[in-house]
Amino acid sequence: MSSKVPPIILNNGVEMPQLGFGVWQVPDDEAERAVATALEAGYRSIDTAAIYGNEEGTGKAIAASGIARDELFVTTKLWNSDQGYDSTLRAFDASLAKLGLEFVDLYLIHWPLPAQGKAVDTYKAFEKIYSDGRARAIGVSNFLPEHLRLLTEETSVIPAVNQIELHPHLQQHEAREYHAEQGIATEAWSPLGQGKGLLEVPAIVAIAQKHGRTPAQVVLRWHLQIGNVVIPKSVTPSRIAENIDVFGFSLDTEDMAAISALNEDRRLGPDPATFNA
Ligand code: NAD
Repeated sequence: MSSKVPPIILNNGVEMPQLGFGVWQVPDDEAERAVATALEAGYRSIDTAAIYGNEEGTGKAIAASGIARDELFVTTKLWNSDQGYDSTLRAFDASLAKLGLEFVDLYLIHWPLPAQGKAVDTYKAFEKIYSDGRARAIGVSNFLPEHLRLLTEETSVIPAVNQIELHPHLQQHEAREYHAEQGIATEAWSPLGQGKGLLEVPAIVAIAQKHGRTPAQVVLRWHLQIGNVVIPKSVTPSRIAENIDVFGFSLDTEDMAAISALNEDRRLGPDPATFNA
């Protein structure tokens, strides 16, 4: 995989770019344009989901790019209402058709939904999809360590990835440690804290000024240097370019410590223990 973004190696040997492009809350036609811009800017990993309603636009941009399939890393996710063995297989077929692909690189269970108790059956369908070669890797999203424990007790393929909310205000120490012990890669969603107050925090602004970089670039560097996979989202071409231009500088120990001190265990999204949509 040749790209300006270095890969991490997942627990099954598959390479995944450490930085990709997220398309949550981007309508289908706008996603097509944004993904095209991202691919031109050098992104090779795209993170979508059935519930985002933009798998088709994403697929169209991929097809139009002319980039070889083996240079791309495409992630999609199974939505909550499709959990269960048979419904997962059907939902996966629908996602592949919308993307216009023969396989995805990573398929994730979007939420654990502990109150519904279907995650194990759902994951067994994921194992079937994986063994059929239609997903190069399978994993989960928003799983707490207790949900991962249940899954690994009852199924045989260790998830390659857990995609969780993670940014300097929610650093997820316990989850990251558990993932590292289990060989599960940690992927950070809302890595920029959704661009809200986080990018104006004085400590981050000061580090950005010191390096002649932007606050978003500093936050992305922090993630990369602690080993997270990141999938920042933007529909603005200049920001799309800015967010991938993070491989020409590094934060020093003092910068990293100043950002690590910003943890507030504060979520922007739902709590996976109770979210049941
Ligand atoms: P993000 O942290 O990537 O922030 C995106 C927002 O930050 C943009 O809308 C824009 O307002 C701002 N921004 C982006 N680049 C900027 C820059 N360079 N300078 C200033 N502001 C900038 O938030 P996100 O979209 O919530 O998360 C990223 C991706 O994670 C999503 O698109 C999606 O793919 C994924 N995600 C997954 C889940 C899940 O449940 N698995 C949930 C939310 C998001």
